[in-house]
Amino acid sequence: MDPDRIQRALRQHLKTDRMLGVEAVPYLVEIDLQAVHNVTPVREAPPVKIKPAPGSTPAPGSAPGSPASPLQLHPSSFTLDTSVPADAAGRQALLDAFNDAEVRACTRCALCNSRTQTVFGEGDPTADVMFIGEGPGRDEDIQGRPFVGRSGELLDKQIQAMGQHAKIPGFDRRNVYIANVVKCRPPQNRTPTPEEAEACWTYLSRQIMIIQPKVIITLGGPAAKRLLNTDQGVTRLRGNWQQVELGGRTYPLMPTFHPAYLLRSYTRENRMKVWSDLQAAMDQAIRARSVSE
Ligand code: URA
Repeated sequence: MDPDRIQRALRQHLKTDRMLGVEAVPYLVEIDLQAVHNVTPVREAPPVKIKPAPGSTPAPGSAPGSPASPLQLHPSSFTLDTSVPADAAGRQALLDAFNDAEVRACTRCALCNSRTQTVFGEGDPTADVMFIGEGPGRDEDIQGRPFVGRSGELLDKQIQAMGQHAKIPGFDRRNVYIANVVKCRPPQNRTPTPEEAEACWTYLSRQIMIIQPKVIITLGGPAAKRLLNTDQGVTRLRGNWQQVELGGRTYPLMPTFHPAYLLRSYTRENRMKVWSDLQAAMDQAIRARSVSE
Protein backbone atom coordinates (compact mmCIF):
# COMPACT_ATOMS: atom_id res chain seq x y z
CA MET A 1 0.00 0.00 0.00
CA ASP A 2 1.39 3.44 -0.76
CA PRO A 3 2.19 5.76 2.18
CA ASP A 4 -0.56 8.22 1.26
CA ARG A 5 -3.21 5.52 1.37
CA ILE A 6 -1.86 4.24 4.70
CA GLN A 7 -1.99 7.76 6.12
CA ARG A 8 -5.52 8.30 4.82
CA ALA A 9 -6.65 4.95 6.23
CA LEU A 10 -5.14 5.73 9.64
CA ARG A 11 -6.68 9.18 9.71
CA GLN A 12 -10.09 7.71 8.82
CA HIS A 13 -9.79 5.10 11.58
CA LEU A 14 -8.85 7.71 14.16
CA LYS A 15 -11.77 9.88 13.06
CA THR A 16 -14.09 6.91 13.34
CA ASP A 17 -12.84 5.96 16.77
CA ARG A 18 -13.45 9.50 17.94
CA MET A 19 -16.97 9.50 16.49
CA LEU A 20 -17.64 6.25 18.31
CA GLY A 21 -16.46 7.66 21.60
CA VAL A 22 -12.83 6.54 21.70
CA GLU A 23 -10.89 9.66 22.58
CA ALA A 24 -7.43 8.17 22.89
CA VAL A 25 -5.51 5.32 21.31
CA PRO A 26 -2.54 3.57 22.98
CA TYR A 27 0.81 5.10 22.09
CA LEU A 28 3.34 3.01 20.15
CA VAL A 29 1.03 0.14 19.43
CA GLU A 30 1.64 -1.57 16.13
CA ILE A 31 -1.41 -1.50 13.94
CA ASP A 32 -1.96 -4.49 11.71
CA LEU A 33 -2.98 -2.67 8.56
CA GLN A 34 -3.71 -5.89 6.77
CA ALA A 35 -6.15 -6.92 9.49
CA VAL A 36 -7.71 -3.46 9.45
CA HIS A 37 -8.02 -3.64 5.70
CA ASN A 38 -9.51 -7.11 5.78
CA VAL A 39 -12.46 -6.24 7.95
CA THR A 40 -14.08 -4.15 5.25
CA PRO A 41 -14.83 -6.72 2.54
CA VAL A 42 -18.47 -5.80 2.22
CA ARG A 43 -18.02 -2.11 1.51
CA GLU A 44 -17.96 -2.46 -2.21
CA ALA A 45 -20.55 -5.22 -2.46
CA PRO A 46 -22.93 -4.27 -5.25
CA PRO A 47 -26.63 -4.95 -4.76
CA VAL A 48 -26.53 -7.88 -7.16
CA LYS A 49 -24.35 -9.79 -4.71
CA ILE A 50 -27.05 -9.71 -2.07
CA LYS A 51 -27.88 -13.22 -0.97
CA PRO A 52 -31.52 -14.24 -0.84
CA ALA A 53 -32.80 -14.81 2.64
CA PRO A 54 -33.69 -18.38 3.47
CA GLY A 55 -37.38 -19.13 3.75
CA SER A 56 -40.36 -18.08 1.75
CA THR A 57 -41.34 -14.65 0.59
CA PRO A 58 -43.88 -13.26 3.02
CA ALA A 59 -47.12 -11.91 1.70
CA PRO A 60 -47.80 -8.23 2.31
CA GLY A 61 -48.50 -7.62 5.95
CA SER A 62 -47.99 -11.23 6.92
CA ALA A 63 -45.30 -13.06 8.81
CA PRO A 64 -43.17 -15.44 6.79
CA GLY A 65 -44.89 -18.76 6.73
CA SER A 66 -48.17 -17.50 8.10
CA PRO A 67 -51.43 -17.05 6.19
CA ALA A 68 -51.46 -13.89 4.14
CA SER A 69 -53.07 -10.94 5.85
CA PRO A 70 -53.36 -7.89 3.64
CA LEU A 71 -51.76 -4.68 4.75
CA GLN A 72 -54.61 -2.57 5.91
CA LEU A 73 -55.31 0.39 8.07
CA HIS A 74 -58.66 1.38 6.72
CA PRO A 75 -59.13 -1.25 4.07
CA SER A 76 -60.89 1.08 1.71
CA SER A 77 -58.19 3.72 1.73
CA PHE A 78 -54.97 1.88 2.37
CA THR A 79 -53.67 -0.85 0.19
CA LEU A 80 -50.08 -1.75 -0.18
CA ASP A 81 -47.50 0.43 -1.79
CA THR A 82 -49.59 2.19 -4.40
CA SER A 83 -51.38 4.14 -1.70
CA VAL A 84 -48.38 4.94 0.49
CA PRO A 85 -47.89 8.68 0.19
CA ALA A 86 -44.52 9.86 -1.07
CA ASP A 87 -44.23 12.79 1.30
CA ALA A 88 -43.07 12.66 4.93
CA ALA A 89 -46.24 14.23 6.34
CA GLY A 90 -48.46 11.70 4.61
CA ARG A 91 -46.39 8.74 5.72
CA GLN A 92 -46.17 10.04 9.28
CA ALA A 93 -49.95 10.43 9.34
CA LEU A 94 -50.28 6.82 8.24
CA LEU A 95 -47.84 5.62 10.90
CA ASP A 96 -49.55 7.69 13.59
CA ALA A 97 -52.96 6.42 12.56
CA PHE A 98 -52.06 2.78 12.79
CA ASN A 99 -50.09 3.31 15.98
CA ASP A 100 -53.15 4.98 17.54
CA ALA A 101 -55.63 2.52 16.10
CA GLU A 102 -53.79 -0.72 16.82
CA VAL A 103 -50.40 -0.62 18.48
CA ARG A 104 -50.91 1.53 21.58
CA ALA A 105 -53.63 -0.72 22.98
CA CYS A 106 -52.27 -3.97 21.56
CA THR A 107 -52.92 -7.17 23.51
CA ARG A 108 -51.68 -9.65 20.92
CA CYS A 109 -49.21 -11.22 23.35
CA ALA A 110 -48.50 -11.35 27.08
CA LEU A 111 -45.89 -8.57 26.92
CA CYS A 112 -48.79 -6.13 27.14
CA ASN A 113 -49.26 -7.12 30.80
CA SER A 114 -45.90 -5.83 31.99
CA ARG A 115 -45.29 -2.84 29.73
CA THR A 116 -45.56 0.77 30.81
CA GLN A 117 -46.36 1.71 27.24
CA THR A 118 -45.71 0.54 23.71
CA VAL A 119 -42.64 1.81 21.86
CA PHE A 120 -43.68 2.23 18.26
CA GLY A 121 -40.52 3.62 16.66
CA GLU A 122 -39.43 7.03 15.47
CA GLY A 123 -37.51 8.97 12.87
CA ASP A 124 -37.93 10.13 9.32
CA PRO A 125 -40.89 8.29 7.76
CA THR A 126 -39.15 8.57 4.38
CA ALA A 127 -35.73 7.51 5.70
CA ASP A 128 -33.30 5.68 3.44
CA VAL A 129 -31.88 3.79 6.41
CA MET A 130 -34.03 1.85 8.87
CA PHE A 131 -32.57 0.27 12.01
CA ILE A 132 -34.40 -2.60 13.63
CA GLY A 133 -33.51 -3.60 17.17
CA GLU A 134 -34.82 -6.27 19.45
CA GLY A 135 -37.27 -4.66 21.85
CA PRO A 136 -37.58 -1.79 24.30
CA GLY A 137 -35.53 -1.89 27.49
CA ARG A 138 -36.25 -0.13 30.77
CA ASP A 139 -35.52 3.40 29.57
CA GLU A 140 -37.45 2.91 26.35
CA ASP A 141 -40.44 1.48 28.25
CA ILE A 142 -40.50 4.56 30.48
CA GLN A 143 -39.99 7.12 27.72
CA GLY A 144 -41.95 5.40 24.94
CA ARG A 145 -39.07 5.93 22.49
CA PRO A 146 -36.64 3.42 20.96
CA PHE A 147 -32.95 3.31 21.83
CA VAL A 148 -32.77 6.05 24.43
CA GLY A 149 -30.65 4.18 27.00
CA ARG A 150 -26.97 3.27 26.87
CA SER A 151 -27.37 1.30 23.66
CA GLY A 152 -29.13 4.30 22.19
CA GLU A 153 -26.23 6.58 23.05
CA LEU A 154 -23.89 4.34 21.11
CA LEU A 155 -26.37 4.02 18.24
CA ASP A 156 -26.58 7.82 18.07
CA LYS A 157 -22.79 8.01 17.70
CA GLN A 158 -22.84 5.33 15.06
CA ILE A 159 -25.50 7.16 13.06
CA GLN A 160 -23.55 10.41 13.28
CA ALA A 161 -20.41 8.60 12.15
CA MET A 162 -22.35 7.22 9.17
CA GLY A 163 -23.33 10.77 8.27
CA GLN A 164 -19.70 11.90 8.46
CA HIS A 165 -18.67 8.95 6.36
CA ALA A 166 -21.21 9.98 3.71
CA LYS A 167 -20.30 13.66 4.15
CA ILE A 168 -23.85 14.62 5.13
CA PRO A 169 -23.62 17.48 7.66
CA GLY A 170 -25.87 17.17 10.70
CA PHE A 171 -26.94 13.60 9.94
CA ASP A 172 -28.41 12.07 13.08
CA ARG A 173 -31.20 9.84 14.38
CA ARG A 174 -33.84 12.18 12.98
CA ASN A 175 -32.65 11.25 9.48
CA VAL A 176 -33.11 7.49 9.90
CA TYR A 177 -35.98 5.39 11.21
CA ILE A 178 -35.55 3.28 14.34
CA ALA A 179 -37.93 0.48 15.30
CA ASN A 180 -37.89 -2.83 17.13
CA VAL A 181 -39.06 -6.37 16.51
CA VAL A 182 -41.38 -6.13 19.52
CA LYS A 183 -43.09 -2.96 20.68
CA CYS A 184 -43.31 -3.87 24.37
CA ARG A 185 -40.51 -4.39 26.87
CA PRO A 186 -39.88 -8.05 27.64
CA PRO A 187 -39.62 -8.58 31.43
CA GLN A 188 -36.04 -8.26 32.72
CA ASN A 189 -35.03 -7.31 29.17
CA ARG A 190 -35.05 -10.95 28.11
CA THR A 191 -34.94 -11.83 24.43
CA PRO A 192 -38.43 -11.79 22.91
CA THR A 193 -39.78 -15.26 22.19
CA PRO A 194 -40.47 -16.25 18.56
CA GLU A 195 -44.20 -16.11 19.40
CA GLU A 196 -43.90 -12.55 20.68
CA ALA A 197 -41.93 -11.53 17.61
CA GLU A 198 -44.54 -13.21 15.44
CA ALA A 199 -47.37 -11.36 17.18
CA CYS A 200 -45.64 -8.03 16.50
CA TRP A 201 -44.61 -8.79 12.91
CA THR A 202 -47.81 -7.31 11.54
CA TYR A 203 -46.73 -3.94 12.96
CA LEU A 204 -43.08 -4.06 11.97
CA SER A 205 -43.83 -5.28 8.46
CA ARG A 206 -46.29 -2.43 7.94
CA GLN A 207 -43.77 0.08 9.24
CA ILE A 208 -41.25 -1.17 6.69
CA MET A 209 -43.82 -1.04 3.89
CA ILE A 210 -44.76 2.53 4.73
CA ILE A 211 -41.22 3.81 5.21
CA GLN A 212 -39.78 1.88 2.26
CA PRO A 213 -36.15 2.32 3.30
CA LYS A 214 -33.32 1.82 0.83
CA VAL A 215 -31.51 -0.30 3.41
CA ILE A 216 -32.47 -2.13 6.59
CA ILE A 217 -29.89 -2.65 9.32
CA THR A 218 -30.78 -5.27 11.89
CA LEU A 219 -29.15 -4.88 15.29
CA GLY A 220 -28.43 -8.18 16.99
CA GLY A 221 -29.52 -11.77 16.52
CA PRO A 222 -33.27 -11.65 17.24
CA ALA A 223 -33.91 -8.91 14.66
CA ALA A 224 -31.87 -10.66 11.97
CA LYS A 225 -33.54 -13.99 12.72
CA ARG A 226 -37.04 -12.53 12.55
CA LEU A 227 -36.51 -10.51 9.40
CA LEU A 228 -34.65 -13.26 7.58
CA ASN A 229 -36.68 -16.15 8.94
CA THR A 230 -33.50 -17.99 9.84
CA ASP A 231 -31.94 -19.72 12.81
CA GLN A 232 -28.43 -18.60 11.90
CA GLY A 233 -26.63 -16.58 14.53
CA VAL A 234 -25.65 -12.95 14.04
CA THR A 235 -21.94 -13.79 14.22
CA ARG A 236 -22.30 -15.70 10.96
CA LEU A 237 -24.81 -13.37 9.36
CA ARG A 238 -23.22 -10.01 10.07
CA GLY A 239 -21.33 -8.27 7.31
CA ASN A 240 -23.10 -10.24 4.58
CA TRP A 241 -25.84 -8.67 2.50
CA GLN A 242 -29.22 -10.32 2.78
CA GLN A 243 -32.58 -9.35 1.38
CA VAL A 244 -36.15 -9.19 2.54
CA GLU A 245 -39.12 -9.37 0.19
CA LEU A 246 -42.08 -7.45 1.47
CA GLY A 247 -45.09 -5.98 -0.25
CA GLY A 248 -43.66 -6.50 -3.70
CA ARG A 249 -40.41 -4.79 -2.84
CA THR A 250 -36.96 -6.13 -2.11
CA TYR A 251 -35.08 -4.56 0.74
CA PRO A 252 -31.30 -4.99 1.09
CA LEU A 253 -30.59 -5.94 4.69
CA MET A 254 -27.29 -5.69 6.53
CA PRO A 255 -27.18 -7.61 9.82
CA THR A 256 -24.79 -6.29 12.44
CA PHE A 257 -24.14 -6.64 16.15
CA HIS A 258 -26.47 -4.98 18.66
CA PRO A 259 -25.00 -1.89 20.36
CA ALA A 260 -25.56 -3.58 23.74
CA TYR A 261 -23.34 -6.46 22.64
CA LEU A 262 -20.72 -4.01 21.41
CA LEU A 263 -20.77 -2.24 24.77
CA ARG A 264 -20.26 -5.56 26.54
CA SER A 265 -17.52 -6.69 24.15
CA TYR A 266 -15.94 -3.37 23.30
CA THR A 267 -12.98 -4.74 21.41
CA ARG A 268 -11.34 -3.03 18.51
CA GLU A 269 -12.16 -6.03 16.34
CA ASN A 270 -15.89 -5.85 17.11
CA ARG A 271 -15.99 -2.09 16.64
CA MET A 272 -14.30 -2.43 13.28
CA LYS A 273 -16.74 -5.12 12.22
CA VAL A 274 -19.75 -3.02 13.11
CA TRP A 275 -18.25 0.08 11.54
CA SER A 276 -17.57 -1.85 8.38
CA ASP A 277 -21.21 -3.04 8.29
CA LEU A 278 -22.55 0.46 8.89
CA GLN A 279 -20.36 2.00 6.20
CA ALA A 280 -21.44 -0.67 3.72
CA ALA A 281 -25.09 -0.01 4.55
CA MET A 282 -24.67 3.75 4.22
CA ASP A 283 -22.85 3.38 0.89
CA GLN A 284 -25.65 1.17 -0.37
CA ALA A 285 -28.31 3.64 0.76
CA ILE A 286 -26.52 6.49 -1.02
CA ARG A 287 -26.12 4.39 -4.18
CA ALA A 288 -29.79 3.41 -4.15
CA ARG A 289 -30.87 7.01 -3.56
CA SER A 290 -28.77 8.27 -6.48
CA VAL A 291 -30.24 5.59 -8.77
CA SER A 292 -33.82 6.45 -7.78
CA GLU A 293 -33.38 10.19 -8.28
N1 URA B 1 -32.46 -2.37 22.66
C1 URA B 1 -33.27 -2.60 21.59
O1 URA B 1 -33.16 -3.59 20.90
N2 URA B 1 -34.18 -1.68 21.33
C2 URA B 1 -34.31 -0.57 22.03
O2 URA B 1 -35.18 0.22 21.70
C3 URA B 1 -33.45 -0.37 23.11
C4 URA B 1 -32.53 -1.28 23.42
